Amino acid sequence: ALTAGIVGLPNVGKSTLFNAITKSQVEAANYPFATIAPNVGVVEVPDKRIDRLREIFNPKKTIYTTFEFTDIAGLVKGASKGEGLGNQFLSNIRLTDAICHVVRCFEDANITHVENSVDPVRDAEIINLELILADLSTVENRIGKVARKAQSSKDKEIRQEYDLLMKLKPHLESEKPARSLELNDDEKLLMNQYNLLTAKPVIYVANLDEEGISDPESSRHYQALAAKAKEEGAEIVPVCAKIEEDLASLDKEEKDAFLDDLGLPHSGLDALITTAYHILGLSTFLTAGEDECRAWTFHNGMKAPECAGVIHTDFQRGFIRAEVYRFEDMDELESEQAIKEAGKMCLEGKDYVVQDGDVMHFRFNV
Ligand code: GDP
Repeated sequence: ALTAGIVGLPNVGKSTLFNAITKSQVEAANYPFATIAPNVGVVEVPDKRIDRLREIFNPKKTIYTTFEFTDIAGLVKGASKGEGLGNQFLSNIRLTDAICHVVRCFEDANITHVENSVDPVRDAEIINLELILADLSTVENRIGKVARKAQSSKDKEIRQEYDLLMKLKPHLESEKPARSLELNDDEKLLMNQYNLLTAKPVIYVANLDEEGISDPESSRHYQALAAKAKEEGAEIVPVCAKIEEDLASLDKEEKDAFLDDLGLPHSGLDALITTAYHILGLSTFLTAGEDECRAWTFHNGMKAPECAGVIHTDFQRGFIRAEVYRFEDMDELESEQAIKEAGKMCLEGKDYVVQDGDVMHFRFNV
């Protein structure tokens, strides 16, 4: 499963947010994972379509798909030089697929700031610089290994790699993240093998206080961070970690009522889950029946047999075809019979590229 790592300076609200995540963690009964490590939190991906299918099918159970966060504690200035838990911290980030970068946007004189003032852009840059320096050292190591070979050999691949490294180096030296370097598809593939920290997609998580969250745009700290995110083409999600922690211990109705009282359309954590899911190129297909209505995660671009394999490897091996309809058609017509009569039930073969919101029924040989 893909995972998003939670990073940020000390005292910005990472633990508070991660507590909210573990408190909202899915029930093991529906999701028989092996073991969930203590620094991992598995949460449901909110999906109103499942709620609607529940109304229509009245199934025995409904199951949301899930997403995983990893808590990465302990980044300090100097991590790229191996200070503090530096190296450990960086190798933990390397194992993640996206970065949720928590940035303090709340003022609170009682809570010490490691840099003695609240300045989200400066804070974000401190962390970014550590990641950039770590990548620069990866790139320089690699240059050391291939430089001589690239100059003496006619091997096209080595030359290509060397050219890429010589683009990455000055880019990182100018304190820019690898993800902002414009590369063609071949170069991107080549770069993937280094697993650079700053090539991973980023979401800035703006941690606002209890007042600020109701109108993030009016906070100058939020505005500053949002401008930075925009410039980088990164996502930004406002949260109030404290409120998320409170929300996490409530059941669904209480949660909705609490959000209503606060005048919030949805929880910040839900927005974060949804954003992380999408920037990783993940989508959801659905299965629906009287037994169970369920959401499943697939990678954008996956074809019907691979999606069948998400449910069970036997479904992929014995795949014959899929009956597919759109969730929107079920939302409107409210029965499979009506969908068939409207000519909106499709039979698709092994080359069908599954779309977000497809409701799938797989036919397969055992
Ligand atoms: P970490 O070091 O990044 O894990 O930060 P913590 O989660 O331990 O939070 C540091 C301090 O900030 C704690 O005292 C939290 O209660 C407080 N804090 C975290 N989030 C919020 C928030 O949204 N609003 C306010 N007012 N305080 C917060």
